[in-house]
Formats: sequence, C-alpha cells, structure tokens
Amino acid sequence: MSQQQNIDDKLNAVKTRIHHAEKLAGRQHGSVTLVGASKVQSAALIDSYAQQGLRDVGENYLQEAIEKQNTVSRPLNWHFIGQIQSNKTKLIAQHFSWVHGVDRVKIARRLGDQNPNPSTPINVLIQLNLDSEDSKGGVPLAQAPELADQIAQIDGIALQGFMAIPKARNNVSEQSAVFAQAYETLQSTNQRFGLQLDQLSMGMSGDLEAAVAEGSTMVRIGTDLFGARK
Ligand SMILES: *Cc1c(COP(=O)(O)O)cnc(C)c1O
Repeated sequence: MSQQQNIDDKLNAVKTRIHHAEKLAGRQHGSVTLVGASKVQSAALIDSYAQQGLRDVGENYLQEAIEKQNTVSRPLNWHFIGQIQSNKTKLIAQHFSWVHGVDRVKIARRLGDQNPNPSTPINVLIQLNLDSEDSKGGVPLAQAPELADQIAQIDGIALQGFMAIPKARNNVSEQSAVFAQAYETLQSTNQRFGLQLDQLSMGMSGDLEAAVAEGSTMVRIGTDLFGARK
C-alpha cells in the first residue's frame, strides 16, 4: 500500500467515525471539526494530510509548531493545544488562529494585546480541568462561568467556548458523563452571562464518539489519524 493510500484510509476512517457519531446524535453532518493533533509528526506528513483535505491542525509545542508552519506548503488553520506559558503568548498570538488552553485572565489579555492583527480576533477556548488533575492546566468547572464572563470582554480575542482533556476512561458511559459536564457548563455560562459560546473542543482518539454525542464541536485526533507517536 502506498503511503498516500495509507494516509487517505486513515483520514477517511476518522471522518467516518465522526460522521457516524454526528448522525447517531441527530446532529448535522459537518458540525464537528476534525483537528489533527500533530505533535511530533513531520511537516511533510502534515502536508500530505492537508493535500487529502485536512484543514485544521493542533500543536502542543511552540517552537516545533513554528518550524512546521515555515515548511508546510498548504494553508491550514493552526490551533495551539498545549500548555501556555505567559512568556510565550506573543509568539502564540502571531502564529495561531485558535488557542485552546486558556485558563487565566492574564493569558487572555496578553494574547489580545499581542494580536498582530486585532481586527481578526484570535479564537480562544477556556480549558476546563474536569478531573482536578494537577498535571493538567485548566480551571475547575465551578470557576469557568465567571472566567468566561471576564475573558469574553477582552479585545483582540474572541472567546468561543471551552476545551477539556479528561482522564482516559474505558467505558463510553463514563466518558459521556464527564463530557456532559462540559456541555452543561457551557449552557449555564451562556444563560448566566448572556453569552453565545458555541464551541466545545473535546474528544481524542479513544473517546471521540462519546464527545460528539455530548456536544463536542472540535475533536483533537492524534494517534488514530497520524499513527502512533514515535
Ligand atoms: C496529543 C493530544 C491529543 C491527541 O491524542 P490522541 O489520543 O493521540 O488522539 C489531543 N489533545 C491534546 C491536547 C493532545 O496533547
């Protein structure tokens, strides 16, 4: 099998899973964006996926991402999905149209101030820490609504919703229960503060079906799209 055929098959398999999950949930075809989680994968490989129609990629490590952006020849929407250090916000603002892991007002303000093109706001998601894990960023659910209200008012960025990386769970009902918490928090935040947040970045290779069933609008897929990370 040629490498291009292999890429085509992997991309189609992931898209089929997403479309099947959309259908099962009674959601519109195409309502979920596939974000290829491309950390560690080469620029050449990303380019091959872009050639087959991948439009969005998420990167965790800034320097690695910038090098790839300079090499990849096709236009892509670049999402920053890693942990954000406040001394890196300027480069993040210059290089990404979406930033998923915002969990402090200070980071959001810096991204807005450092947006090189303020008439095109940087799309921001607040990260929820659904399992109270110290190793991960994000805010506890209880703090998310007020943080959203504050961040929604900052110029130069556009708050779009929430992102979550829950712990891996090995059955769908447990996966669904935790994703449902993120969905409910988005709805209650909108109600309480009169916001119209409508993006939920949740779901990875092992739990995308549950995430789509519970209202995810962006799944971040690494392993099942690009193969195992070396
Ligand atoms: C690596 C990564 C993913 C993709 O994980 P897979 O299980 O390989 O699909 C998704 N989101 C984030 C934030 C990641 O770092």
